[in-house]
Amino acid sequence: MPNLNPIYFDHVSSTPVHPEVLKTQAELYPIHYANGEALHDAGRTIADMVEKSRESIANLLSVKPDMITFTSGATESNNAIIKGIAFANADKGRHLITTSVEHSSVLESFKQLEDDFGFEVTYLSVDQDGRISPDELKASLKADTTLVSIMHVNNEIGTIMPVELCSKIIKANSTAYFHVDEVQAIGKIPFDLRFVDAASMSAHKINGVKGSGLMIVKPKVKILSLITGGQQEFGRRGGTANAINNILFAKTLRLSLGEFDRHLKQVKLLNEHIRSSLLEIPEVIINSPINEVSPFIINFSVTSLTSEVLLNWFNVHKIYVSAQSTCNSKTKHASITLSAMHLSEERLNGSIRIGISASNTIEEADRLLKVLKEGLIKYGSPLR
Ligand code: PMP
Repeated sequence: MPNLNPIYFDHVSSTPVHPEVLKTQAELYPIHYANGEALHDAGRTIADMVEKSRESIANLLSVKPDMITFTSGATESNNAIIKGIAFANADKGRHLITTSVEHSSVLESFKQLEDDFGFEVTYLSVDQDGRISPDELKASLKADTTLVSIMHVNNEIGTIMPVELCSKIIKANSTAYFHVDEVQAIGKIPFDLRFVDAASMSAHKINGVKGSGLMIVKPKVKILSLITGGQQEFGRRGGTANAINNILFAKTLRLSLGEFDRHLKQVKLLNEHIRSSLLEIPEVIINSPINEVSPFIINFSVTSLTSEVLLNWFNVHKIYVSAQSTCNSKTKHASITLSAMHLSEERLNGSIRIGISASNTIEEADRLLKVLKEGLIKYGSPLR
């Protein structure tokens, strides 16, 4: 096999750090090592820089700085928001609503509240496009519902959920708070935080560093802090903050939003190219919907092969893709989203997720498609 360069098509999982972010990180680390809570000038300088970062993020997201808490990533943000709201409002009600296709950090938070703390959780079903029904949401709201959590963009197939409409339904029919996991929406599709009470974001999905996230919580929301122990982050999250990560978040977000149009244009082009080529392959069924979908994700199934065989085949050809959410990749369970869509066994077992970014090229897409077709010829049909 010729010595080819690796091709990375797993940008839903994580992304390379932007060179500008890396440069700033290298500049900051040797100088700004003091604890941001310290009362000497070195500490105060860092604290000021973090607050400037918070202000600039607030401006970019059109929220107020004190609504922003820096976290270690969206898994923490989702846990802190969901459990924090459920616990703080338990005297008001113990019913919660989410969807059956959320990221595991959301689903497992609800599962824990249900199994270990006796909350009642409604998991909304999805249709063949992986989308919830606003009518089912409306019918599920009860007098004791305190929280509804719905992801904006599904991380396995890219479906965009009707979050604005959901927000209107929740506000008109209940007193529940509305949380949106914005991880796969940020920098990729337009979003408006006026419609939500709380939101989660992650830096490493938008060319930032890992271990860096945000939770955004509006002032009216009653929420309990899960990590107590210090006055950091307005008392909402104890522990010495990773100040440099928090400073870098602002730069990451500015760069990502600044390149929004260019990224979207290139990714749409690649998506259309890959999609139309996949449609010509008889063994392939595209699982991502056609409408109301993020162009950054294409999920498809090969009905004659398993995901494992396909992943290995791509991997030996140095093409890096995923089978499902990477956070579930070590379990043998089928994809959460595709299972909730009630797809056939063949489609569940043979799914592949391509995570496109603007750094990918048509040539890379063509190599992916060529390798896929070669795999289908090599393994024949059906394999299993
Ligand atoms: N929510 C969604 C929709 C995601 O895709 C991810 C990342 N796989 C997360 C939450 C968790 O983010 P993090 O890696 O920052 O913990």
